[in-house]
Amino acid sequence: MPLVSSTEWLLKAQKEKFGIGAFNANNMEFIEAIVEVAEEMQAPVIIQVSQGAIKYAGLEMATEMVKAAANLASVPVILHLDHGTDYLQNVRCLRSGFTSLMFDGSALNFEDNVKMTAKITEMSHACKIPVEAELGKVLQIGDNNSAETIEKAMTQPEEAVKFVTATKIDSLAVAIGSVHAMKDRTAKLDIPRLKKIRAALAAANCDIPLVLHGSSGVDPDSIKEGIANGLCKINVATQLSVSFVKAIGEQYTKTPAEKDMRKILLPGKNAVKDRVREYMGFFGCKGKGVIAGAKSGIQASEIKHHE
Ligand SMILES: [Zn+2]
Repeated sequence: MPLVSSTEWLLKAQKEKFGIGAFNANNMEFIEAIVEVAEEMQAPVIIQVSQGAIKYAGLEMATEMVKAAANLASVPVILHLDHGTDYLQNVRCLRSGFTSLMFDGSALNFEDNVKMTAKITEMSHACKIPVEAELGKVLQIGDNNSAETIEKAMTQPEEAVKFVTATKIDSLAVAIGSVHAMKDRTAKLDIPRLKKIRAALAAANCDIPLVLHGSSGVDPDSIKEGIANGLCKINVATQLSVSFVKAIGEQYTKTPAEKDMRKILLPGKNAVKDRVREYMGFFGCKGKGVIAGAKSGIQASEIKHHE
């Protein structure tokens, strides 16, 4: 089916307390891996493309590959811009056919972040496309993160209310203890803070779906607790990338004389599928993407490989 907007699916996730996987893709193998597992699990899925992925694959290629994969799937697929850095980038992605946008103004001060986010939301809502924005800052690994700097960068509940009300965003990325690009799943989320953010938003009548960035470095049990407390979109990039690189490296080491690149890449794709399957398993999204009458045109990659 064609790409769908994230609005109704994130609201469903919020209502039914499950998480929708938002997986970063840079190439065809990742897109296929993610959509094939979504189909297998009958789960809604978000494929997200970062600024880096757009530079790598090109905006047209990135968009059209995800559209093609979505068209073959019977489950809802959303194409999301991850960490849009400015207004024009968001315009270009909207024009290209993205069904969900993000503006990351977390490097700006509060007032400038509000101003730019509101401008993007106004533009995007004119085309009925939702916008995610970030408040507080999910730090990067290597930022010299002490427990104190992470805590200082976290989302403040009262600021969240002001931000959501002033910008009219559709979902909010919260900083509650995760760190971008971590390989070890050791971080624990600040669940009491998450509860306070939700309570403050609900009291102000703007209880929108919340998003977790940097999930690759978070303990799965902590993610589960986060989902039970209002996290609806869970971003995973690093774990997929690491799994892919490791698997193709191992395959190449085993068969260095192999001339068929597909035989090296396929184990990488399958490793990504295993990771996506594992994440979707504890996000609770299995069976949540069933669309009556929708048919799948997805073929098993293994068969394609041997042709
Ligand atoms: Zn992020």
